[in-house]
Amino acid sequence: MSRIRQLPLEVTTKIAAGEVIERPASVVKELLENSIDAGATRMDVEIEQGGVELIRVVDDGCGIVAEDLPLAFASHATSKLADAEDLFRVQTLGFRGEALASIGGVAQVTLQSRPTGELVGAEIECHGGKIGPLRSWNGAAGTRMDVRHLFFNTPVRRRFLKATGTEMGHIAETVTRLALAAPHVSWKLSHNSRDVFQVPASAGLRERLGLFFGSEIQEMLIPVEAVHGPARLTGFIADPACDRGNPRMQYLFVNGRWIRDRSLGHALQEAYRGLLMVGRHCVAFLFLELPPDLVDVNVHPTKAEVRFRDGQALYHLVLSTVRDKLRQADLTARLTLAPAQPGTTWNGHAWPAPQRLQVQESLLAASPRGEGQALAPRPDRSQLAPRVDANAERELPSLPPRAIQLYDAYLVVETADGMLVVDQHALHERILYEAWKERIRNGELECQRLLVPEPVEVPVEQAALALEHRELLAKLGLGIEDFGGNTLLVTSYPAILPKGSPVQLLRSAVEHLASKDRAPTAEQLLDDLLRLMACKAAIKAGDHLGPDEIASLLEHRHLADHTHHCPHGRPTALFFSKHELDRQFKRV
Ligand code: ADP
Ligand code: MG
Repeated sequence: MSRIRQLPLEVTTKIAAGEVIERPASVVKELLENSIDAGATRMDVEIEQGGVELIRVVDDGCGIVAEDLPLAFASHATSKLADAEDLFRVQTLGFRGEALASIGGVAQVTLQSRPTGELVGAEIECHGGKIGPLRSWNGAAGTRMDVRHLFFNTPVRRRFLKATGTEMGHIAETVTRLALAAPHVSWKLSHNSRDVFQVPASAGLRERLGLFFGSEIQEMLIPVEAVHGPARLTGFIADPACDRGNPRMQYLFVNGRWIRDRSLGHALQEAYRGLLMVGRHCVAFLFLELPPDLVDVNVHPTKAEVRFRDGQALYHLVLSTVRDKLRQADLTARLTLAPAQPGTTWNGHAWPAPQRLQVQESLLAASPRGEGQALAPRPDRSQLAPRVDANAERELPSLPPRAIQLYDAYLVVETADGMLVVDQHALHERILYEAWKERIRNGELECQRLLVPEPVEVPVEQAALALEHRELLAKLGLGIEDFGGNTLLVTSYPAILPKGSPVQLLRSAVEHLASKDRAPTAEQLLDDLLRLMACKAAIKAGDHLGPDEIASLLEHRHLADHTHHCPHGRPTALFFSKHELDRQFKRV
């Protein structure tokens, strides 16, 4: 039987290092966080061979006094905490006092530092945990760290490292996160003596985002700002048109620290619901500021996750702020042929307003299918209407838009500054969805009772599932009763649906319920079913529309929210500016 024994320091250091230092990027993160904590305003990062050969960070921060240099490499040695109470009011990025000990344990480190105001500085080395003698050093004020031959004494770790380019990618990502979190700091990153990027201290957040992610994203940013109690949310979200296949471009910072948070990520995804197609993810850069005692940062070795005192309130803050912003923004997709000049393709264009002002009650009542009750005017649109430029409003002609139907599927519409191609099904689907949602909210969705209930056969387990959600279905106007076995009775259906489809709707609803691996909330389910109904009831591609129907459909485009996307996240319209036409025909 093996006996219990106390592990030597050499081993415990390597174990501790394993938690914090996974790859070169982890070293870069720890060193730069120390520089930020030291109040540095300039940071130079030099990397060689993906960080395995050399990671050098030079800062102009407060520096370390000579006597403290040997302590910097001791584990649990920090200048940032004094007692346990401090743990609950952490204002610095570091506080565990473990990073330098860990790095010193698995690399060959030279630490040189001169505190501001001192005439000379000092240097010390730590090779694989062995601390060398203290020597004087004549460098600039601030701190300079050279980390060489990472994992030289842990060959297994070293073998786990990926190609130089991959490791460098992780380093660039780390520096990016920190550079976004620390405004007013200038950054320089180089690899094998080549500049990767330089960010001047004067570059604001929007400019930084442009530098790191390109002008396409920069031009599609929508600023957000909100305060709720002690919490403040700022940053940018991007137009759904720059969606991504994964959530990696969703950056979240809490008190200047980049973090991952499933719940807030979910809030963001919820806010974009209906604007993105399934499997797509939005781009966002959100910054939360909270009093330090409302967030516990001591729950994860690399502090990439935190725990909130009131996670629910933050969830709602993110969801409602982002959702409102998206509702107010004009998100009509814009078309350009050749690569456009920066700043010319996206200028916050809003759908021209006068048509909206002209909408008459009679037109409102007539939906494209003549189902009068399908669309209703909404009481107060002033707050929810798309943002409109006041000048544009005055200059525009007060005639209804000119429009034609193509292929019985698309409407081409002339607007004041361009041409809009509308997908008739997608647009109608969104209009119906928004109108019904409003009616459900007001308890106004009428249902049609069936004189003779209609039996529907579904698999037994689906019948049980449907009965379990009976109340929810009733909210949609879909009344069901148990007939025993695998048969359900439809007793009523939503009056807005075309006749004959209640059975079909129930089938789809039940299938939809059964297909969910995770039980959706009542609100989500209702929403999903509404989308389904809207899709079924909306005019289809292939339906020929008369001029009145076209006019009515287009009028409603201004009355509902999010009419730029169908409820499944497909765009409903593409905008091609007149300027772009002029440009293509070389008129300008
Ligand atoms: P922590 O950051 O958790 O305190 P570290 O091991 O990262 O622990 O650093 C130990 C200590 O070394 C810090 O508390 C700080 O006092 C000092 N230090 C490290 N890097 C710097 C730096 N770039 N400038 C000034 N002081 C530093
Ligand atoms: Mg630290």
